[in-house]
Amino acid sequence: MLDSFGRDITYMRVSVTELCNLRCRYCMPADGICKKAHEEMLTEDEMITAIQAAASLGITKLRITGGEPLVKKNILSICRRASLVPGIREICITTNGTLLPALAEPLREAGVRRVNISLDTLDADKFRYISRCGELTQAVDGIRAALEAGFDKVKINTVLIGGFNDNEIPALAELTRRYPVDVRFIELMPMYDSGDFGPEAYIPFTVVLDKLPELHPVDPDGGVAKLYSFPDAKGRIGLISPVSAHFCAACNRIRLTADGKIKPCLHSGDEYSLKGLDYESMAAKLRDAILSKPSWHGVLDVENRSHAGRNMNQIGG
Ligand code: SAM
Repeated sequence: MLDSFGRDITYMRVSVTELCNLRCRYCMPADGICKKAHEEMLTEDEMITAIQAAASLGITKLRITGGEPLVKKNILSICRRASLVPGIREICITTNGTLLPALAEPLREAGVRRVNISLDTLDADKFRYISRCGELTQAVDGIRAALEAGFDKVKINTVLIGGFNDNEIPALAELTRRYPVDVRFIELMPMYDSGDFGPEAYIPFTVVLDKLPELHPVDPDGGVAKLYSFPDAKGRIGLISPVSAHFCAACNRIRLTADGKIKPCLHSGDEYSLKGLDYESMAAKLRDAILSKPSWHGVLDVENRSHAGRNMNQIGG
């Protein structure tokens, strides 16, 4: 379905939970979240109905996210049922990777084709600091498990944080020479209430190019990342610049939160609730949401924080 600016909306991010087993500083508060009542959240059946309604409007690609999607007890059932919805051609998942050793193969069997794993540092102490409680070895074991499970694609997502991991850009990029993974550097977004990062933390994607002059551009793959590669590398480097060079004109996505709100734009407070609706009403609400998608997310920088009204774990990054 085309939105009012002619963008073909084919991609929905589905957050299956707000809960997470990590507490990343840029994503959620230290004390976790105020747990919502069970009745406020979408049931598995409602999620699948919402996906069916979205598919009827032209959504072909889903990304299952959270919170941490792998802490959701029925994650395999959600993925399996979503993969059987007519019109859905691809299911991807975004995870912190820590639970992948047990779940990578079952997810692959449940129809998940691609996996993005978040990894902001290769240093165990820094990993503990940024995630407030995680262990690097668990995330690394998860990446290994994803590679062994034979997904179509494994990507590593690194949030660029000035003064924290900009000195690790070469080491993280090096992974693309050794393993068949894409490493994507994502600019830190000033979300609603997340993190106590000063202006120095918000560094532009161009820092990566400055640090890695041997990178050469490669053909885009239809996604929002600007793609580069080292000569003879097994994977690519992706640069994602929501802050310094927004890509709203090419945005083809909507988001469904775990409590059933459609967010037509990540950084807007506008939400359309699907909770408790039947298939037809969900399809009508989805149509309204798509038609209301703004042309761009507005100015976003350290002074102009996101208007999302939620942190990332409550939206689904
Ligand atoms: N728990 C999963 C994970 O860690 O990948 C999925 C949910 S997490 C919200 C999805 C992605 O959002 C992660 O790659 C995370 O790094 C990114 N993210 C969260 N807050 C962000 C922020 N303020 N700026 C940029 N990326 C952010």
